Amino acid sequence: HMSLSDPVKPQRICVCVRKRPLNKKELAKKEIDVVTIPGNGALLLHEPKQKVDLTKYLENQTFHFDYSFDEDATNDLVYRFTAKPLVKTIFEGGMATCFAYGQTGSGKTHTMGGDFSGKTQNSSKGIYALAAQDVFTLLRQKRYADMDLCPYVTFFEIYNGKVFDLLNKKAKLRVLEDEKQQVNVVGLQEVPVSSVDDVIKMIERGSACRTSGQTFANASSSRSHAVLQVILRRRNFLHGKFSLVDLAGNERGTDVSNNDRHTIVETAEINRSLLALKECIRSLGQNSEHIPFRMSKLTQVLRDSFIGENSRTCMIAMISPGMSSCEYTLNTLRYANRVK
Ligand code: ADP
Ligand code: MG
Repeated sequence: HMSLSDPVKPQRICVCVRKRPLNKKELAKKEIDVVTIPGNGALLLHEPKQKVDLTKYLENQTFHFDYSFDEDATNDLVYRFTAKPLVKTIFEGGMATCFAYGQTGSGKTHTMGGDFSGKTQNSSKGIYALAAQDVFTLLRQKRYADMDLCPYVTFFEIYNGKVFDLLNKKAKLRVLEDEKQQVNVVGLQEVPVSSVDDVIKMIERGSACRTSGQTFANASSSRSHAVLQVILRRRNFLHGKFSLVDLAGNERGTDVSNNDRHTIVETAEINRSLLALKECIRSLGQNSEHIPFRMSKLTQVLRDSFIGENSRTCMIAMISPGMSSCEYTLNTLRYANRVK
């Protein structure tokens, strides 16, 4: 059970962890839950009560984050403490970015709400839709209604260092940087939207054409980063941008012998971009002049997110609680710990 008070002013960088419940398959295998969330942002990765040799990974490690959400947290609650406080930023002319990070199967797409391929999932309740809802609520408020702001949506995927437009038949797009270091994804569709339903239609359309990988049995799209952006323009000029990023699975190809060359290249690219992302967010946090955004296509495309007085970033690190995932979980926790 959580005792959280409502978030006040959003911090520049917020790092949270979300633990998902053990799933049916894990319960059937009698998997042991090795993650406990005691409250106040703390998370404990602990030795299971049953005797298992885990000394390689675990020694009762405690981590601290801005918020730690346990398996009872709903998308709504997670949203309220992560992306919601950032919505105002884009109305004030800033850049907001929210990342879902974690191993494949840990709940990134569930949280973002971009999985429209499965029939069981009610995707309209994810962060994508909740954020879109708040954007339209604010657009109607008196103080913003007079500002002449027009909302647009883009949705693209970065796979193996290449950008594909999910709203335009997966057209492969070039990324260009001008002399002022402005990054431009050439030809990216910016679709005008006038309601939450419009946005959801675009998410459905885009999600349906995401890249799938063969590395994990049922893990479609786990090898690419998906970026949904809600953009506000004022007389055609960029006013604010909210980027919601469903990152590629962070599992390392530790068992390289099992993977083909293609998978090894894919994995190397993912590792590179996630490392770049960590460095860029850290630079933002330190108000550094130098943002190493050219380290990867992901960070290059998101360059705007890491600069400026009024940029806010939130990372939600997703973790699977099962013992068999603990090596990945530990990786995720260490990464999240170092971002800030
Ligand atoms: P990822 O995108 O990180 O690979 P998914 O979001 O697809 O993972 O989640 C894997 C499975 O676990 C899905 O069936 C999803 O519905 C379920 N799941 C993930 N997080 C939760 C949660 N917090 N509560 C209930 N089910 C969840
Ligand atoms: Mg996913």
